[in-house]
Amino acid sequence: MWLYPRTAGTGGARHLAFAGTVRCGEGTSRVKPAPFEYRVADSVEAAVAALAEAGGEAKVLAGGQSLVPMLNFRLLRPAILVDINRVPGLSDIRDDIDAIRVGALTRHHQLETSPVIADHLPVLRAAMAHVAHLAIRNRGTIGGSLTHADPAAELPMMALLLDATLGIASPRGRRTVAARDFFLGALSVALEADELVTEVVFPKLPPDTGWGFEEISRRHGDFALAAVAATLRLADGKIAQARIAIAGADERAVRASEAEALLQGKSLDGELRDAACEFARACVTPNTDLHASSDYRRHLVGVLTGKALDAAWRRAREAA
Ligand SMILES: Cc1cc2nc3c(=O)[nH]c(=O)nc-3n(C[C@H](O)[C@H](O)[C@H](O)COP(=O)(O)OP(=O)(O)OC[C@H]3O[C@@H](n4cnc5c(N)ncnc54)[C@H](O)[C@@H]3O)c2cc1C
Repeated sequence: MWLYPRTAGTGGARHLAFAGTVRCGEGTSRVKPAPFEYRVADSVEAAVAALAEAGGEAKVLAGGQSLVPMLNFRLLRPAILVDINRVPGLSDIRDDIDAIRVGALTRHHQLETSPVIADHLPVLRAAMAHVAHLAIRNRGTIGGSLTHADPAAELPMMALLLDATLGIASPRGRRTVAARDFFLGALSVALEADELVTEVVFPKLPPDTGWGFEEISRRHGDFALAAVAATLRLADGKIAQARIAIAGADERAVRASEAEALLQGKSLDGELRDAACEFARACVTPNTDLHASSDYRRHLVGVLTGKALDAAWRRAREAA
C-alpha cells in the first residue's frame, strides 16, 4: 500500500512487523498528505495507548477509503496515523445465539458474502450491494464506515434500523453504546479521541420478520440520494413491530419513529402505507446540493418508504 514510505531507513513495510513507527511525507518522501507519523498497532491495547499518547492528534487507519482521500485533500492533518489492520480478532463475523457480532475491521465485502449475515440479517446483506464499488468494498470496514458517519452511507442506517450496539475500547476499559446514541451529525459520532470501535453487535431478525431496502443514487456505486430500509414483524396478521430507517436525507441517518408508531398493531393497506410515507417525508430535513434538491430528496423518501414497506409486508406474510 502506498502509505508505506519506501525511503524510510527501516527498509519499508515488510520489515515493520508490529507496533512499528515511521515518518511519512518528510525529506525526500513526497506524498499528498501533510507529514504524519505512521504506527502499526498489534493489539487493541497498543492502538488505544497510541491514540491516548497523541492527545487528540492521531487518527485510526482502517480501510482508508474515506480517511485517505481526506488526508490527500489535507482536510485532515493528523500528526499520527494508527494502523489497526494487523490487530488480530477484529475481522470476525460471529453467530452468538441471539445476536451477530461483527468485528470492527470486517470488510464490506465480507458482510455482503457472509452466509451468517444472509441467514439472520438479510436486509443488511441487501444494503451492502449498494455500498460503493467492489474495490472499495474489499477494503472498507464496518468500524470505519460507522465512525466516518457519512449521512448517505448504508451502514450507519443499518446500525440504526437493526438497533445495533457498538463495542468501544479505550485506555480506561471497554464500554458499549447504542447506535441511536452514537451518530451525532454529519461526520460526527460519540467517540473520544482515544477510543477505538472494536465490534458491532446486531440482534438477529426474528424469522417472522419481513424487510425491504430501497435506494436511489445517480449511478450504481454512488452514495445514495436517498435510501430507506424497513422491517416489519407480524403477530396474528398485524404489525407487532415496525422499524424504518432513512439515509441521505438529513444530517445523519434517522429512524422514522412516528411512521413506525402509526403502523403498530395494524395491517398494511394502501391508506396506512400512504400515511406512513407522509410521516417519513415529514421527519427529514434534506439538503440541496449539486446532485439533488431538498424537495426531490424528500419526495424520494416518500416513494422509497412505500416500496420498502410493501416489500417488508410481503416478506413478513410469506414468513408467517
Ligand atoms: C469512491 C467512493 C465511493 C464510496 N461510496 C460509498 C457508498 O456508496 N456508501 C457507503 O456507505 N460508503 C461509501 N464509501 C465509503 C466507504 O464505504 C468507506 O470504506 C467507509 O466509509 C470508511 O471505512 P474505512 O474502513 O475505509 O475507514 P477509514 O477510511 O480508514 O476511516 C474512516 C474514519 O473512521 C475512523 N476509524 C476507522 N476505523 C475505526 C475504528 N475501528 N475505531 C475508531 N475510528 C475508526 C478513521 O480514523 C477515520 O476518521 C465510498 C468511498 C469511496 C472512496
